[in-house]
Amino acid sequence: MKTKDIRKLAANPRFIPGVYNYCDRWCERCPLSNHCLNHAMEQAEDDGDPAARDLSNRKFWDRLHRKFQGTLEMLHEDARARGIDLEDPKLQAEVKAQERAERRLAAKNRPLTRAAMAYVKAADKWFEAARPIFTAKGIELETLARLEAGNPRAEAAELSEYVEVIRWYQHFIYVKLCRAIESRASEELETDGEMKQFPKDSDGSAKIALIAIDRSISAWAGLREALVDDPDNILDLLAQLAAIRRETGKLFPEARAFVRAGFDETKAVPAGT
Ligand code: SF4
Repeated sequence: MKTKDIRKLAANPRFIPGVYNYCDRWCERCPLSNHCLNHAMEQAEDDGDPAARDLSNRKFWDRLHRKFQGTLEMLHEDARARGIDLEDPKLQAEVKAQERAERRLAAKNRPLTRAAMAYVKAADKWFEAARPIFTAKGIELETLARLEAGNPRAEAAELSEYVEVIRWYQHFIYVKLCRAIESRASEELETDGEMKQFPKDSDGSAKIALIAIDRSISAWAGLREALVDDPDNILDLLAQLAAIRRETGKLFPEARAFVRAGFDETKAVPAGT
């Protein structure tokens, strides 16, 4: 999208500012998609070709590239309007120094992201090893359907829902915890008293990571109940997630109370189409 089109779209009052900052990016299921500028921009770019949503397809990356370019252009325009030169070598050196300092500070909390990455790998391993279990379950459900016994359709839908939820949040938890930890480092370095009063990005990011962990735990528990042949391995994954949740809670004790725009606010959503 061109900068002027983005600005025109953004002027629509139906959008909730910043609603996309701490969501789970699951737009198909999002109750606030009609109030989300990010979603509207995606839709404006969508030509209906599934290739544009496929990570392994060039079209997906081209579209992402265009989106970044548009955002970058807007950033440069806004900076120029405020008399800031983003190419200024002094400014760039300051940014680099700040990034180094943030990385050093963030390092102390890396065990949490390492645990989240270990979960990503363990879940992948589990799904790989569970192929025969799913095959056997499929045969069992097909047999039930032929015999018109039980409710195999509902059971299959439930199983697929558990898997979808787990897969959706599997990498998301890691990504959001990385962000929370990096933001925490940047907040710790903040010296401006006024800035310190704002709600913390680290808490918002940790909150959505915690929500993703909660939902993943529920989905794994459901899967464990449905697949009686594999209770122990799932138990290990549940223990991993429970530990990540505990550590996240300790590191970000204010996260659960963070109010996400649109999702946690009680005021009515803006009208409009
Ligand atoms: S707020 Fe909803 S529609 Fe917007 S990016 Fe997040 S999940 Fe998608």
